[in-house]
Amino acid sequence: GGSLARLLAWRRDEAPDAGFVLVEDDGPWTYRQLAAGAARVAAGLDAVRPGDRVVLRIGNDERFLAAASAIWSREAAVVPMHPAAPPEEVARVVATLGVTAVVLDPDDPAGGQLEVPVVPFARIPRTDPGAEAAEYTAPTRDVGAEPALVLLTSGTTGAPKGVVLTHDNAWSNVRATVSAFRSDTSLSPLADESKPPNLIANPLSHTAGVVRLIFALYVGRRIALLRKFDGRAAKRLIDAHGIDNLTLNPTMLRLLLDALEPGEDLGRVKYVGSGTAPLPPPLREEFEARFGVPVLQAYGQTEAFGGIAVESAKDVLAGRRRPGSVGRPLPGVEVRIVRADGTEAGPGEQGEIRARSRSTTSGYLGAEPGASPLDDDGWLRTGDLGHLDDDGYLYITGRLKNTIICGGFNVIPEEVEAALAEDPRVREASVVGLPDDKLGEIPVAVVETTATAEEVLAAVAPRLAPYKRPRHVLVVPALPKVANGKVDRPAVRALAEKAAR
Ligand code: ATP
Repeated sequence: GGSLARLLAWRRDEAPDAGFVLVEDDGPWTYRQLAAGAARVAAGLDAVRPGDRVVLRIGNDERFLAAASAIWSREAAVVPMHPAAPPEEVARVVATLGVTAVVLDPDDPAGGQLEVPVVPFARIPRTDPGAEAAEYTAPTRDVGAEPALVLLTSGTTGAPKGVVLTHDNAWSNVRATVSAFRSDTSLSPLADESKPPNLIANPLSHTAGVVRLIFALYVGRRIALLRKFDGRAAKRLIDAHGIDNLTLNPTMLRLLLDALEPGEDLGRVKYVGSGTAPLPPPLREEFEARFGVPVLQAYGQTEAFGGIAVESAKDVLAGRRRPGSVGRPLPGVEVRIVRADGTEAGPGEQGEIRARSRSTTSGYLGAEPGASPLDDDGWLRTGDLGHLDDDGYLYITGRLKNTIICGGFNVIPEEVEAALAEDPRVREASVVGLPDDKLGEIPVAVVETTATAEEVLAAVAPRLAPYKRPRHVLVVPALPKVANGKVDRPAVRALAEKAAR
Protein backbone atom coordinates (compact mmCIF):
# COMPACT_ATOMS: atom_id res chain seq x y z
CA GLY A 1 0.00 0.00 0.00
CA GLY A 2 0.97 3.63 0.44
CA SER A 3 2.04 5.96 -2.32
CA LEU A 4 3.02 4.83 -5.80
CA ALA A 5 5.99 7.19 -5.32
CA ARG A 6 7.54 4.37 -3.28
CA LEU A 7 8.09 2.26 -6.37
CA LEU A 8 10.77 4.47 -7.88
CA ALA A 9 12.34 5.25 -4.47
CA TRP A 10 12.54 1.56 -3.74
CA ARG A 11 14.14 0.63 -7.05
CA ARG A 12 16.62 3.52 -6.76
CA ASP A 13 17.73 2.13 -3.39
CA GLU A 14 17.81 -1.54 -4.43
CA ALA A 15 19.22 -1.38 -7.95
CA PRO A 16 20.24 2.22 -8.69
CA ASP A 17 22.23 1.45 -11.81
CA ALA A 18 19.85 -1.02 -13.40
CA GLY A 19 18.30 0.23 -16.61
CA PHE A 20 14.53 0.65 -16.70
CA VAL A 21 13.39 2.73 -19.66
CA LEU A 22 14.52 2.28 -23.24
CA VAL A 23 13.13 4.83 -25.65
CA GLU A 24 13.65 3.72 -29.22
CA ASP A 25 17.32 4.57 -29.86
CA ASP A 26 17.89 6.10 -26.44
CA GLY A 27 18.59 4.58 -23.07
CA PRO A 28 18.56 2.65 -20.91
CA TRP A 29 17.60 5.17 -18.27
CA THR A 30 18.58 3.90 -14.86
CA TYR A 31 16.48 4.13 -11.71
CA ARG A 32 19.04 6.58 -10.32
CA GLN A 33 18.75 8.87 -13.34
CA LEU A 34 14.96 8.70 -13.20
CA ALA A 35 15.00 9.53 -9.47
CA ALA A 36 17.25 12.52 -10.21
CA GLY A 37 14.69 13.70 -12.77
CA ALA A 38 11.91 13.21 -10.23
CA ALA A 39 13.82 15.28 -7.63
CA ARG A 40 14.20 18.07 -10.19
CA VAL A 41 10.49 18.21 -10.98
CA ALA A 42 9.50 17.88 -7.31
CA ALA A 43 11.63 20.94 -6.55
CA GLY A 44 9.54 22.92 -9.05
CA LEU A 45 6.28 21.86 -7.43
CA ASP A 46 6.61 23.96 -4.28
CA ALA A 47 3.17 25.45 -4.68
CA VAL A 48 1.53 22.03 -4.91
CA ARG A 49 -0.27 20.84 -1.75
CA PRO A 50 -1.32 17.34 -0.72
CA GLY A 51 -4.59 16.44 -2.45
CA ASP A 52 -3.93 18.74 -5.43
CA ARG A 53 -4.10 17.66 -9.04
CA VAL A 54 -1.28 18.24 -11.52
CA VAL A 55 -1.54 17.83 -15.29
CA LEU A 56 1.35 15.85 -16.77
CA ARG A 57 1.71 16.38 -20.49
CA ILE A 58 4.83 14.52 -21.60
CA GLY A 59 4.48 11.87 -24.27
CA ASN A 60 5.94 8.37 -24.21
CA ASP A 61 9.26 9.37 -22.71
CA GLU A 62 11.44 8.51 -19.71
CA ARG A 63 10.40 11.83 -18.16
CA PHE A 64 6.82 10.61 -17.76
CA LEU A 65 7.72 8.24 -14.92
CA ALA A 66 10.07 10.76 -13.30
CA ALA A 67 7.43 13.50 -13.36
CA ALA A 68 4.59 11.25 -12.20
CA SER A 69 6.73 10.08 -9.28
CA ALA A 70 7.55 13.71 -8.44
CA ILE A 71 3.85 14.59 -8.35
CA TRP A 72 3.12 11.56 -6.15
CA SER A 73 6.00 12.53 -3.88
CA ARG A 74 4.10 15.80 -3.30
CA GLU A 75 1.00 13.75 -2.36
CA ALA A 76 -0.84 15.11 -5.38
CA ALA A 77 -2.67 13.23 -8.17
CA VAL A 78 -1.38 12.99 -11.74
CA VAL A 79 -3.71 14.01 -14.57
CA PRO A 80 -1.96 12.68 -17.69
CA MET A 81 -2.75 14.40 -20.99
CA HIS A 82 -1.73 13.44 -24.49
CA PRO A 83 0.68 15.98 -26.08
CA ALA A 84 -1.49 16.04 -29.19
CA ALA A 85 -4.51 17.39 -27.31
CA PRO A 86 -5.03 21.02 -28.40
CA PRO A 87 -3.94 23.72 -25.89
CA GLU A 88 -7.62 24.73 -25.39
CA GLU A 89 -8.31 21.20 -24.17
CA VAL A 90 -5.53 21.56 -21.58
CA ALA A 91 -7.07 24.84 -20.41
CA ARG A 92 -10.50 23.19 -20.17
CA VAL A 93 -9.16 20.29 -18.12
CA VAL A 94 -7.24 22.69 -15.84
CA ALA A 95 -10.43 24.66 -15.20
CA THR A 96 -12.94 21.83 -14.87
CA LEU A 97 -10.79 19.45 -12.82
CA GLY A 98 -9.36 22.11 -10.47
CA VAL A 99 -5.74 21.54 -11.51
CA THR A 100 -3.08 23.55 -9.62
CA ALA A 101 0.02 23.04 -11.79
CA VAL A 102 1.05 21.67 -15.16
CA VAL A 103 4.26 19.79 -15.99
CA LEU A 104 5.14 19.76 -19.67
CA ASP A 105 7.83 19.83 -22.30
CA PRO A 106 9.64 23.22 -22.50
CA ASP A 107 8.43 23.83 -26.07
CA ASP A 108 4.84 22.79 -25.51
CA PRO A 109 2.60 25.56 -26.91
CA ALA A 110 -0.02 24.90 -24.19
CA GLY A 111 2.37 26.31 -21.57
CA GLY A 112 1.92 29.95 -22.50
CA GLN A 113 -1.85 30.06 -22.13
CA LEU A 114 -2.48 28.69 -18.65
CA GLU A 115 -3.45 30.43 -15.44
CA VAL A 116 -1.71 27.98 -13.12
CA PRO A 117 2.03 27.49 -12.51
CA VAL A 118 3.73 25.74 -15.41
CA VAL A 119 6.74 23.52 -14.71
CA PRO A 120 8.78 22.86 -17.86
CA PHE A 121 10.62 19.54 -17.73
CA ALA A 122 13.70 19.54 -19.98
CA ARG A 123 15.60 16.31 -20.61
CA ILE A 124 17.08 14.50 -17.61
CA PRO A 125 20.86 14.96 -17.64
CA ARG A 126 22.74 11.73 -18.22
CA THR A 127 25.72 12.54 -16.03
CA ASP A 128 26.34 12.11 -12.32
CA PRO A 129 22.85 12.02 -10.88
CA GLY A 130 24.13 10.80 -7.48
CA ALA A 131 23.32 13.59 -5.04
CA GLU A 132 20.21 14.78 -6.85
CA ALA A 133 18.76 11.26 -7.04
CA ALA A 134 19.02 10.93 -3.27
CA GLU A 135 16.78 13.98 -2.81
CA TYR A 136 13.79 12.15 -4.20
CA THR A 137 11.61 10.83 -1.35
CA ALA A 138 8.24 9.11 -1.19
CA PRO A 139 5.61 10.23 1.36
CA THR A 140 5.68 8.26 4.58
CA ARG A 141 2.02 9.00 5.38
CA ASP A 142 -0.45 6.35 4.15
CA VAL A 143 -2.10 7.91 1.11
CA GLY A 144 -3.49 4.61 -0.24
CA ALA A 145 -7.09 5.81 -0.27
CA GLU A 146 -6.23 9.13 -1.95
CA PRO A 147 -6.27 9.83 -5.69
CA ALA A 148 -3.10 8.85 -7.54
CA LEU A 149 -4.36 9.38 -11.07
CA VAL A 150 -7.21 11.18 -12.73
CA LEU A 151 -7.39 9.51 -16.13
CA LEU A 152 -9.33 11.10 -18.95
CA THR A 153 -11.57 8.74 -20.89
CA SER A 154 -11.03 8.65 -24.64
CA GLY A 155 -13.95 10.94 -25.37
CA THR A 156 -15.46 8.73 -28.03
CA THR A 157 -19.01 9.25 -26.75
CA GLY A 158 -18.75 12.86 -25.54
CA ALA A 159 -16.30 15.13 -23.72
CA PRO A 160 -13.66 13.13 -21.83
CA LYS A 161 -14.48 12.44 -18.17
CA GLY A 162 -11.93 12.54 -15.33
CA VAL A 163 -11.84 9.11 -13.71
CA VAL A 164 -10.40 9.17 -10.18
CA LEU A 165 -8.15 6.22 -9.27
CA THR A 166 -6.47 5.86 -5.89
CA HIS A 167 -3.05 4.46 -5.03
CA ASP A 168 -4.82 1.42 -3.58
CA ASN A 169 -6.72 0.94 -6.86
CA ALA A 170 -3.35 0.81 -8.62
CA TRP A 171 -1.77 -1.62 -6.13
CA SER A 172 -4.80 -3.93 -6.41
CA ASN A 173 -4.63 -3.75 -10.18
CA VAL A 174 -0.96 -4.59 -10.34
CA ARG A 175 -1.26 -7.45 -7.82
CA ALA A 176 -4.23 -8.94 -9.68
CA THR A 177 -2.28 -8.82 -12.95
CA VAL A 178 0.76 -10.40 -11.35
CA SER A 179 -1.35 -13.15 -9.76
CA ALA A 180 -2.77 -13.95 -13.19
CA PHE A 181 0.75 -14.98 -14.19
CA ARG A 182 2.32 -16.33 -11.01
CA SER A 183 1.63 -17.20 -7.41
CA ASP A 184 3.94 -14.76 -5.61
CA THR A 185 2.50 -11.25 -5.82
CA SER A 186 5.09 -9.42 -3.71
CA LEU A 187 7.42 -6.85 -5.27
CA SER A 188 10.09 -8.76 -7.12
CA PRO A 189 13.38 -8.11 -5.37
CA LEU A 190 15.61 -7.20 -8.23
CA ALA A 191 15.37 -5.50 -11.55
CA ASP A 192 15.57 -8.35 -14.00
CA GLU A 193 17.70 -7.34 -16.94
CA SER A 194 17.93 -10.84 -18.37
CA LYS A 195 14.29 -10.86 -19.51
CA PRO A 196 13.25 -8.94 -22.61
CA PRO A 197 11.67 -5.58 -21.83
CA ASN A 198 7.92 -5.03 -22.07
CA LEU A 199 7.08 -3.02 -25.14
CA ILE A 200 4.74 -0.10 -24.48
CA ALA A 201 3.16 1.10 -27.69
CA ASN A 202 0.04 2.69 -26.17
CA PRO A 203 0.15 6.31 -25.02
CA LEU A 204 1.13 6.66 -21.35
CA SER A 205 -1.60 9.31 -21.08
CA HIS A 206 -4.29 6.62 -21.19
CA THR A 207 -5.08 3.55 -19.10
CA ALA A 208 -3.49 0.89 -21.30
CA GLY A 209 -0.11 2.63 -21.29
CA VAL A 210 0.08 3.83 -17.70
CA VAL A 211 -1.10 0.49 -16.28
CA ARG A 212 1.74 -1.24 -18.16
CA LEU A 213 4.28 1.26 -16.87
CA ILE A 214 3.27 0.69 -13.23
CA PHE A 215 3.20 -3.07 -13.77
CA ALA A 216 6.72 -3.14 -15.21
CA LEU A 217 8.05 -0.99 -12.39
CA TYR A 218 6.43 -3.33 -9.88
CA VAL A 219 7.77 -6.56 -11.35
CA GLY A 220 11.18 -5.15 -12.24
CA ARG A 221 10.92 -5.58 -16.01
CA ARG A 222 12.49 -3.00 -18.25
CA ILE A 223 10.24 -1.16 -20.68
CA ALA A 224 10.82 -0.29 -24.31
CA LEU A 225 8.79 2.79 -25.15
CA LEU A 226 7.51 3.71 -28.57
CA ARG A 227 7.16 7.49 -28.70
CA LYS A 228 4.42 7.25 -31.27
CA PHE A 229 3.12 4.16 -32.96
CA ASP A 230 4.94 3.35 -36.16
CA GLY A 231 5.10 -0.15 -37.61
CA ARG A 232 8.77 0.03 -38.61
CA ALA A 233 9.82 1.42 -35.22
CA ALA A 234 7.84 -1.34 -33.48
CA LYS A 235 9.60 -3.96 -35.62
CA ARG A 236 13.02 -2.46 -34.76
CA LEU A 237 12.29 -2.63 -31.02
CA ILE A 238 10.91 -6.17 -31.29
CA ASP A 239 14.08 -7.36 -33.04
CA ALA A 240 16.59 -5.33 -31.03
CA HIS A 241 15.32 -6.52 -27.64
CA GLY A 242 13.82 -9.91 -28.39
CA ILE A 243 10.40 -8.67 -27.25
CA ASP A 244 8.25 -11.71 -26.44
CA ASN A 245 4.78 -10.19 -26.11
CA LEU A 246 3.10 -6.93 -26.90
CA THR A 247 -0.26 -5.27 -26.54
CA LEU A 248 -1.62 -3.08 -29.29
CA ASN A 249 -4.99 -1.74 -30.35
CA PRO A 250 -6.74 -2.71 -33.59
CA THR A 251 -5.49 0.42 -35.37
CA MET A 252 -1.91 -0.50 -34.49
CA LEU A 253 -2.43 -4.12 -35.59
CA ARG A 254 -3.48 -2.77 -38.99
CA LEU A 255 -0.49 -0.38 -39.18
CA LEU A 256 1.94 -3.16 -38.24
CA LEU A 257 0.48 -5.43 -40.93
CA ASP A 258 0.87 -2.69 -43.51
CA ALA A 259 4.40 -1.69 -42.47
CA LEU A 260 6.00 -5.13 -42.67
CA GLU A 261 7.15 -6.63 -45.94
CA PRO A 262 5.95 -10.09 -46.97
CA GLY A 263 8.19 -12.64 -45.24
CA GLU A 264 9.04 -10.38 -42.31
CA ASP A 265 8.03 -11.84 -38.98
CA LEU A 266 7.57 -10.76 -35.37
CA GLY A 267 10.77 -12.38 -34.10
CA ARG A 268 10.32 -13.89 -30.65
CA VAL A 269 6.83 -12.51 -30.05
CA LYS A 270 4.65 -15.36 -28.76
CA TYR A 271 1.34 -13.51 -28.69
CA VAL A 272 -0.13 -10.07 -29.27
CA GLY A 273 -2.81 -8.59 -27.04
CA SER A 274 -5.48 -6.37 -28.58
CA GLY A 275 -7.57 -3.99 -26.52
CA THR A 276 -9.30 -0.59 -26.27
CA ALA A 277 -11.70 -1.17 -29.18
CA PRO A 278 -13.57 -4.01 -30.91
CA LEU A 279 -11.27 -6.28 -32.91
CA PRO A 280 -12.77 -7.06 -36.33
CA PRO A 281 -12.50 -10.84 -36.90
CA PRO A 282 -11.05 -10.44 -40.43
CA LEU A 283 -8.24 -8.29 -39.02
CA ARG A 284 -7.46 -10.91 -36.40
CA GLU A 285 -7.45 -13.68 -39.02
CA GLU A 286 -5.20 -11.76 -41.40
CA PHE A 287 -2.76 -10.93 -38.60
CA GLU A 288 -2.59 -14.48 -37.29
CA ALA A 289 -2.23 -15.99 -40.76
CA ARG A 290 0.54 -13.58 -41.70
CA PHE A 291 2.68 -13.79 -38.54
CA GLY A 292 1.66 -17.13 -37.05
CA VAL A 293 1.12 -15.46 -33.69
CA PRO A 294 -2.21 -15.53 -31.82
CA VAL A 295 -4.02 -12.25 -31.15
CA LEU A 296 -5.60 -12.24 -27.69
CA GLN A 297 -8.44 -9.89 -26.89
CA ALA A 298 -8.45 -7.77 -23.77
CA TYR A 299 -11.53 -5.85 -22.69
CA GLY A 300 -11.28 -2.99 -20.28
CA GLN A 301 -12.28 0.51 -19.39
CA THR A 302 -10.67 3.55 -17.82
CA GLU A 303 -13.22 3.34 -14.97
CA ALA A 304 -11.98 -0.19 -14.16
CA PHE A 305 -8.34 0.95 -14.35
CA GLY A 306 -7.73 -1.27 -17.31
CA GLY A 307 -8.57 -4.90 -17.73
CA ILE A 308 -11.95 -6.48 -17.00
CA ALA A 309 -11.62 -9.67 -19.07
CA VAL A 310 -8.85 -11.17 -21.19
CA GLU A 311 -8.33 -14.18 -23.42
CA SER A 312 -5.80 -16.42 -21.75
CA ALA A 313 -2.67 -17.15 -23.74
CA LYS A 314 -2.69 -20.69 -22.35
CA ASP A 315 -6.23 -21.36 -23.60
CA VAL A 316 -5.62 -19.93 -27.03
CA LEU A 317 -2.22 -21.56 -27.54
CA ALA A 318 -3.84 -24.89 -26.56
CA GLY A 319 -6.50 -24.38 -29.23
CA ARG A 320 -9.27 -23.66 -26.73
CA ARG A 321 -10.49 -20.39 -28.14
CA ARG A 322 -14.05 -19.15 -27.93
CA PRO A 323 -14.33 -17.20 -31.17
CA GLY A 324 -15.83 -13.78 -30.64
CA SER A 325 -15.26 -13.75 -26.89
CA VAL A 326 -12.91 -11.44 -24.99
CA GLY A 327 -12.06 -14.26 -22.60
CA ARG A 328 -12.89 -14.56 -18.93
CA PRO A 329 -12.82 -11.97 -16.14
CA LEU A 330 -9.37 -11.25 -14.72
CA PRO A 331 -8.57 -12.54 -11.24
CA GLY A 332 -10.17 -10.21 -8.69
CA VAL A 333 -12.77 -8.93 -11.16
CA GLU A 334 -16.42 -10.00 -10.97
CA VAL A 335 -18.64 -9.57 -14.00
CA ARG A 336 -22.42 -9.76 -14.26
CA ILE A 337 -24.91 -9.02 -17.01
CA VAL A 338 -27.93 -6.95 -16.09
CA ARG A 339 -31.23 -6.54 -17.94
CA ALA A 340 -32.78 -3.12 -18.50
CA ASP A 341 -34.97 -3.66 -15.38
CA GLY A 342 -31.89 -4.27 -13.21
CA THR A 343 -32.33 -8.03 -12.79
CA GLU A 344 -29.55 -10.45 -13.65
CA ALA A 345 -29.55 -11.91 -17.16
CA GLY A 346 -29.06 -15.64 -17.74
CA PRO A 347 -26.24 -17.25 -19.76
CA GLY A 348 -26.38 -16.22 -23.41
CA GLU A 349 -28.78 -13.37 -22.70
CA GLN A 350 -27.70 -9.85 -23.66
CA GLY A 351 -27.61 -7.01 -21.16
CA GLU A 352 -25.37 -4.33 -19.71
CA ILE A 353 -21.99 -5.53 -18.48
CA ARG A 354 -21.36 -4.61 -14.84
CA ALA A 355 -18.02 -5.19 -13.15
CA ARG A 356 -16.67 -5.04 -9.62
CA SER A 357 -13.08 -5.11 -8.40
CA ARG A 358 -10.75 -3.35 -6.01
CA SER A 359 -9.21 -1.39 -8.84
CA THR A 360 -12.49 0.15 -9.97
CA THR A 361 -12.92 3.92 -9.63
CA SER A 362 -15.20 5.39 -7.01
CA GLY A 363 -16.22 8.24 -9.27
CA TYR A 364 -15.63 11.04 -11.72
CA LEU A 365 -14.08 14.34 -10.89
CA GLY A 366 -16.05 17.47 -11.55
CA ALA A 367 -19.08 15.51 -12.77
CA GLU A 368 -22.67 16.34 -11.92
CA PRO A 369 -24.12 14.55 -8.91
CA GLY A 370 -25.89 11.45 -10.20
CA ALA A 371 -23.18 10.86 -12.77
CA SER A 372 -21.71 8.07 -10.66
CA PRO A 373 -20.32 5.19 -12.71
CA LEU A 374 -21.42 2.77 -9.98
CA ASP A 375 -24.86 1.26 -9.41
CA ASP A 376 -26.53 1.08 -5.98
CA ASP A 377 -24.68 -2.13 -5.15
CA GLY A 378 -21.28 -0.73 -6.04
CA TRP A 379 -20.93 -2.38 -9.43
CA LEU A 380 -19.42 -0.41 -12.31
CA ARG A 381 -21.93 0.27 -15.08
CA THR A 382 -19.66 -0.22 -18.06
CA GLY A 383 -22.24 1.04 -20.52
CA ASP A 384 -21.28 -1.89 -22.73
CA LEU A 385 -23.67 -4.54 -23.98
CA GLY A 386 -22.74 -8.19 -23.94
CA HIS A 387 -23.38 -11.65 -22.60
CA LEU A 388 -21.66 -14.44 -20.71
CA ASP A 389 -21.74 -18.04 -21.92
CA ASP A 390 -22.20 -21.10 -19.69
CA ASP A 391 -18.49 -21.23 -18.91
CA GLY A 392 -18.15 -17.56 -18.01
CA TYR A 393 -16.62 -16.30 -21.27
CA LEU A 394 -17.62 -12.74 -22.02
CA TYR A 395 -18.84 -11.46 -25.40
CA ILE A 396 -19.12 -7.74 -26.17
CA THR A 397 -21.86 -6.69 -28.55
CA GLY A 398 -21.69 -2.92 -28.42
CA ARG A 399 -22.13 0.18 -26.33
CA LEU A 400 -25.46 1.28 -24.89
CA LYS A 401 -24.71 4.91 -25.70
CA ASN A 402 -24.09 4.18 -29.35
CA THR A 403 -27.35 2.27 -29.84
CA ILE A 404 -29.45 3.67 -32.68
CA ILE A 405 -33.23 3.50 -32.37
CA CYS A 406 -34.59 3.20 -35.88
CA GLY A 407 -38.37 2.94 -36.24
CA GLY A 408 -38.60 1.44 -32.76
CA PHE A 409 -35.92 -1.19 -33.39
CA ASN A 410 -32.55 -1.13 -31.64
CA VAL A 411 -29.64 -1.14 -34.04
CA ILE A 412 -26.25 -1.80 -32.48
CA PRO A 413 -23.69 0.04 -34.62
CA GLU A 414 -20.88 -2.33 -33.65
CA GLU A 415 -22.84 -5.21 -35.20
CA VAL A 416 -23.31 -3.28 -38.44
CA GLU A 417 -19.62 -2.31 -38.41
CA ALA A 418 -18.58 -5.96 -38.03
CA ALA A 419 -20.82 -6.93 -40.97
CA LEU A 420 -19.31 -4.16 -43.10
CA ALA A 421 -15.77 -5.24 -42.12
CA GLU A 422 -16.40 -8.73 -43.54
CA ASP A 423 -16.08 -7.16 -46.98
CA PRO A 424 -12.37 -7.51 -47.83
CA ARG A 425 -12.45 -4.16 -49.64
CA VAL A 426 -13.52 -2.41 -46.44
CA ARG A 427 -10.61 -1.28 -44.35
CA GLU A 428 -12.62 0.24 -41.53
CA ALA A 429 -16.21 1.32 -40.94
CA SER A 430 -18.06 3.36 -38.35
CA VAL A 431 -21.84 3.59 -38.05
CA VAL A 432 -23.73 6.45 -36.41
CA GLY A 433 -27.39 7.36 -36.08
CA LEU A 434 -28.65 10.47 -37.85
CA PRO A 435 -32.02 12.06 -37.10
CA ASP A 436 -34.81 11.08 -39.47
CA ASP A 437 -38.34 12.53 -39.71
CA LYS A 438 -40.08 9.21 -40.19
CA LEU A 439 -37.95 6.69 -38.28
CA GLY A 440 -36.50 8.84 -35.51
CA GLU A 441 -32.96 7.78 -36.32
CA ILE A 442 -31.32 5.96 -39.21
CA PRO A 443 -27.98 4.11 -39.32
CA VAL A 444 -25.44 5.79 -41.60
CA ALA A 445 -22.06 4.22 -42.38
CA VAL A 446 -18.81 6.10 -42.88
CA VAL A 447 -16.40 3.73 -44.58
CA GLU A 448 -12.76 3.63 -45.58
CA THR A 449 -12.79 1.43 -48.68
CA THR A 450 -11.58 0.98 -52.23
CA ALA A 451 -15.15 0.13 -53.32
CA THR A 452 -18.01 2.53 -54.06
CA ALA A 453 -20.84 3.26 -51.64
CA GLU A 454 -23.25 1.20 -53.78
CA GLU A 455 -20.88 -1.78 -53.81
CA VAL A 456 -20.44 -1.63 -50.03
CA LEU A 457 -24.22 -1.53 -49.52
CA ALA A 458 -24.83 -4.40 -51.93
CA ALA A 459 -22.21 -6.55 -50.19
CA VAL A 460 -23.47 -5.93 -46.67
CA ALA A 461 -27.20 -6.29 -47.41
CA PRO A 462 -27.35 -10.12 -47.28
CA ARG A 463 -25.56 -10.09 -43.92
CA LEU A 464 -28.01 -7.80 -42.12
CA ALA A 465 -31.74 -7.64 -41.43
CA PRO A 466 -33.25 -4.80 -43.48
CA TYR A 467 -33.81 -2.49 -40.50
CA LYS A 468 -30.12 -2.74 -39.55
CA ARG A 469 -28.80 -1.85 -43.01
CA PRO A 470 -27.10 1.53 -43.37
CA ARG A 471 -29.46 3.90 -45.18
CA HIS A 472 -26.49 5.83 -46.54
CA VAL A 473 -22.83 5.01 -47.02
CA LEU A 474 -20.21 7.74 -47.11
CA VAL A 475 -16.78 6.74 -48.44
CA VAL A 476 -13.84 8.60 -46.82
CA PRO A 477 -10.04 8.36 -47.20
CA ALA A 478 -9.59 7.61 -43.46
CA LEU A 479 -11.77 7.46 -40.35
CA PRO A 480 -11.12 10.19 -37.77
CA LYS A 481 -9.39 8.86 -34.64
CA VAL A 482 -8.67 10.12 -31.13
CA ALA A 483 -5.14 10.07 -29.69
CA ASN A 484 -5.23 6.44 -28.53
CA GLY A 485 -6.33 5.12 -31.89
CA LYS A 486 -10.07 4.78 -31.26
CA VAL A 487 -12.59 5.90 -33.83
CA ASP A 488 -13.75 9.41 -32.94
CA ARG A 489 -17.53 8.97 -33.13
CA PRO A 490 -18.45 12.63 -32.67
CA ALA A 491 -16.18 13.45 -35.64
CA VAL A 492 -17.67 10.58 -37.69
CA ARG A 493 -21.13 11.93 -36.91
CA ALA A 494 -20.09 15.41 -38.07
CA LEU A 495 -18.85 13.94 -41.38
CA ALA A 496 -22.10 12.01 -41.85
CA GLU A 497 -24.21 15.08 -41.03
CA LYS A 498 -22.28 17.23 -43.47
CA ALA A 499 -22.74 14.67 -46.24
CA ALA A 500 -26.47 14.39 -45.48
CA ARG A 501 -27.03 18.15 -45.81
P1 ATP B 1 -15.71 8.01 -23.36
O1 ATP B 1 -16.24 7.31 -22.14
O2 ATP B 1 -15.11 9.33 -23.09
O3 ATP B 1 -16.62 7.98 -24.51
P2 ATP B 1 -14.23 5.62 -23.94
O4 ATP B 1 -15.26 4.89 -23.19
O5 ATP B 1 -13.93 5.27 -25.35
O6 ATP B 1 -14.43 7.20 -23.86
P3 ATP B 1 -12.16 4.16 -22.62
O7 ATP B 1 -12.32 4.00 -21.16
O8 ATP B 1 -10.80 4.36 -23.14
O9 ATP B 1 -12.93 5.45 -23.09
O10 ATP B 1 -12.76 2.93 -23.40
C1 ATP B 1 -13.45 1.86 -22.80
C2 ATP B 1 -14.41 1.27 -23.81
O11 ATP B 1 -13.71 0.74 -24.94
C3 ATP B 1 -15.16 0.09 -23.25
O12 ATP B 1 -16.23 0.50 -22.45
C4 ATP B 1 -15.59 -0.63 -24.53
O13 ATP B 1 -16.73 -0.02 -25.10
C5 ATP B 1 -14.41 -0.40 -25.46
N1 ATP B 1 -13.51 -1.57 -25.49
C6 ATP B 1 -12.37 -1.75 -24.82
N2 ATP B 1 -11.81 -2.95 -25.10
C7 ATP B 1 -12.63 -3.56 -25.98
C8 ATP B 1 -12.61 -4.84 -26.66
N3 ATP B 1 -11.62 -5.72 -26.51
N4 ATP B 1 -13.65 -5.12 -27.48
C9 ATP B 1 -14.67 -4.24 -27.65
N5 ATP B 1 -14.72 -3.04 -27.05
C10 ATP B 1 -13.73 -2.69 -26.23
